Amino acid sequence: MPEEVLFMEVWQAREEILSQLQVLEPEVVPVLDALGRTLAEDIAADEDIPPFENSAMDGYAVRSADVAQAAPHAPVALDVIASLAAGEAAGEAVRPQTAIRIMTGAPMPPGADAVVPFEDTDEGSGEPGRVRILRGVRPGANVRRAGEDVRRGEVVLQRGTLLRPPEVGLLASLGRSQVRVTRRPRVAVIATGDELVDIAEPLTPGKIRNSNGYSNAAQVRKYGGEPLLLPIARDTMTAVTARIEEGLARGADLFLTSGGVSMGDYDLVKRVLHDLGHIDFWQVRMQPGKPMAFGHIRGIPLIGLPGNPVSAMVAFEQFARPAILKMQGRRALRKPEVEATLLDDAKAYGDRVRFLRAIVAQDVAGQWTARLTGPQGSGILSSMVRANGLAIIPKQEGKVPAGTRVWVQMLDWPEVE
Ligand code: AMP
Ligand code: MG
Repeated sequence: MPEEVLFMEVWQAREEILSQLQVLEPEVVPVLDALGRTLAEDIAADEDIPPFENSAMDGYAVRSADVAQAAPHAPVALDVIASLAAGEAAGEAVRPQTAIRIMTGAPMPPGADAVVPFEDTDEGSGEPGRVRILRGVRPGANVRRAGEDVRRGEVVLQRGTLLRPPEVGLLASLGRSQVRVTRRPRVAVIATGDELVDIAEPLTPGKIRNSNGYSNAAQVRKYGGEPLLLPIARDTMTAVTARIEEGLARGADLFLTSGGVSMGDYDLVKRVLHDLGHIDFWQVRMQPGKPMAFGHIRGIPLIGLPGNPVSAMVAFEQFARPAILKMQGRRALRKPEVEATLLDDAKAYGDRVRFLRAIVAQDVAGQWTARLTGPQGSGILSSMVRANGLAIIPKQEGKVPAGTRVWVQMLDWPEVE
């Protein structure tokens, strides 16, 4: 093993990568296109939501003091002087012993301080122009106060927030048709290997299809990046150099390579990357995914993922995913973990943390369980297909029997801080 290879823990490698990345610049997009993007500004409300006091129910706007004593056996009759639908402006005031029929969302008329829902009245079925109130209400009952959702001046969304449908709705309610989000990182994805052919090419003896290029590009897109899927790089200095140049020309913000970092190809890729920039080769104490590379080529960061299809995806999750999120300015970078009972026997991997592909579910008692997705070889991509989590087996020797409680990283759950 070349002596300059660094040994790293998973967290150290992640910290090292994150510490060297910059947040990209913002751009302004229509609010609906901001879904899935990261907010690049603090959003302060410049008005109250709701903007005016309004009814939370269909019913009668009343003065609560008038009906305080109302009960089914002692109804209080009021004159109905008007009716107000949502969208109408409040006009007439509710005076003592009167009521205004009011619909949900209509502005509270002056004088009224509560709404009696229809079901607590006779709905005006008695005397014409009168309503009988069958239950008393407290001041403020069934009334939505102005600003009860959002107060004017309040910072309602912080920079670095992932914009989900509720955030889009909140922005719309504040009248924000455009919003400032961080630009999507352009991520050049380069698969290396003499054995690789692309999807549409025929498989000839000794060849396999390039799956990493596609699984990694899909991961880039899943986490908000824009993948630039470059053609396969053969294991030659010219081929790898040409791909890097192509990525630079196309404005890549990050390079993601797969393969060529294990001992077999190590010297070739290392030489290219050292010639073009500064890249360190790491041995990360994890399984799968031990060999890794990280550095910069003309100022652009490069993460070198291992070649095995599972290793490439698992290492992406640990290193490239938080990198892409950080470049978008996202505050929450950590995949949530649940503590689950392992349903299968597993084996630890000595001085490497193991990430076992697991199907996480809840049993009838609501307890989390983790079943392994069969053979765990780092070439077995179907083990990733069925997994929704990665069970983390700490560095230790020997067996981890079924029944052991383990932490499982939830692959499809949104990140937490
Ligand atoms: P390497 O790190 O280049 O030695 O690759 C390790 C293993 O992963 C080898 O069996 C490769 O054939 C396989 N491999 C590398 N790149 C890819 C790829 N893009 N798609 C599928 N398998 C790959
Ligand atoms: Mg290779």
